[in-house]
Amino acid sequence: MSADYSFFKDVLETVNIAATYTSHPKGLIEQIKQCNSIYKMYFPIRRDNGEYEVIEAYRAEHSHHKKPVKGGIRYSSQVNEDEVKALSALMTFKCALVDVPFGGGKGGVKIDRWDYSINEIERITRRYTYELAIKKFIGPAIDVPAPDYGTGQQEMAWISDTYASLFPEDINADACVTGKPLSQAGIRGRNEATGKGVFYGLKEVVSFNDDMAAIGLRSGISGKKIIVQGLGNVGYFSSYFLQEAGAVIIGIAEKEGGIYNPEGLDIEKVFKHRKAEGSLMTYPGAEPIENSFELLEYECDILIPAALENQITAENAPKIKAKIVAEAANGPVTNEAEKILIDRNIMILPDIYLNAGGVTVSYFEWLKNLSRMSFGKLQKRYDQLNNERIVNAIEHASDTNLTYKQRKEIIKGAGEADLVDSALEETMVESYQELRATAKKNNITNLRTAAFIVSINKIALNYIENGIFP
Ligand code: NAD
Repeated sequence: MSADYSFFKDVLETVNIAATYTSHPKGLIEQIKQCNSIYKMYFPIRRDNGEYEVIEAYRAEHSHHKKPVKGGIRYSSQVNEDEVKALSALMTFKCALVDVPFGGGKGGVKIDRWDYSINEIERITRRYTYELAIKKFIGPAIDVPAPDYGTGQQEMAWISDTYASLFPEDINADACVTGKPLSQAGIRGRNEATGKGVFYGLKEVVSFNDDMAAIGLRSGISGKKIIVQGLGNVGYFSSYFLQEAGAVIIGIAEKEGGIYNPEGLDIEKVFKHRKAEGSLMTYPGAEPIENSFELLEYECDILIPAALENQITAENAPKIKAKIVAEAANGPVTNEAEKILIDRNIMILPDIYLNAGGVTVSYFEWLKNLSRMSFGKLQKRYDQLNNERIVNAIEHASDTNLTYKQRKEIIKGAGEADLVDSALEETMVESYQELRATAKKNNITNLRTAAFIVSINKIALNYIENGIFP
């Protein structure tokens, strides 16, 4: 990777290519590409040893064509301006693709979170929130962060609490951030949403016989051999649901190294082992791989990079043996690598599609916070009683009795978890069908280009119909 590599430029190049398949004016495409606002900040925090440290952090708001803007907050030593701009741009196109009515944003704090105690992380998170709040870079109607690399429910709870204490008059304060714990105005299904979305997306993608035959695979998830990079939130849940559906996880790459077993690894056992031992390298019954990066080049059906960007570059792309590269992380395949993979007939499922499950369920959480009512609350019991009446009538008329289990399944009213889950699956299925149809219509094999065509058209329509670009 050359030192002058720019992730943001890669994203813009993708927009330029996709724009050639549209007929929007140049000025409109220029507006769609720009990162509208970026706030770079420095603030001091006191470390546990009494010393002060100055922290560098960012929040980028790429597009305000819909408000609020939305996007995760990342804690990583690699955070920089180019990265947050690129990630915020991806959020714009991702939200448009899956019809989530937000603009794109992203935040980053330049720290390796494992170098800090939990108390220090709390101080950093609360101070970062304060900085965002006083510059109006956070708020239920302005900019709504969520978890990303290195952050999770705990950080979101601190953000929410800090915001609420700064703005006690804001009745919608809960909606200032998503990915919160359930007890702190979170929603059922958000924690696993991105990984579950990856699963639903892959399930849909591999269901097309012709598409699979074209890359030398059979259809269906069952039996697919999978290698995953990153056993964090997205990597773990993607693997968990894929394994549950019959896929075989044969390799897992992490920071400290990787493990490989062509017969399959039990994802839950590996996860628990790593948590207890601090490393997956000692997991029994698997071959430890010192340089986990090498695992990306092992034979498999689906390779799931679920850690960070720039993992598949021009250097290792010629050696990738997977038939499908499923971008669970944001930006794991560079544009140069993408060309090589596509020439080698490897299917790439673009990040803006495949990991959109997180923002989809975040949208539901935001709606729940604004309405102050959990989904299903009003109709669950009513539906149940109604279903019961229908089943009773059918049983009576047909003189047959369902088993207890059958009755229970049919009668059940949908609660929050069921509704979130079915809406997530619907979103992943519908969005893939739209992007696949766009690829076919334009006769292109690059699904990222197809996804960006769909997104650009939706964003452009928004600008045209609100009169900004008549
Ligand atoms: P996470 O912090 O929960 O997990 C990341 C994992 O990657 C960690 O276990 C870390 O140890 C591992 N890792 C770091 N460097 C590695 C390396 N060189 N090789 C192998 N593993 C490595 O983060 P996450 O939330 O799972 O995010 C992962 C990716 O998914 C990021 O690109 C993020 O932007 C993207 N994403 C996350 C969400 C979400 O809801 N969390 C939503 C959409 C996209």
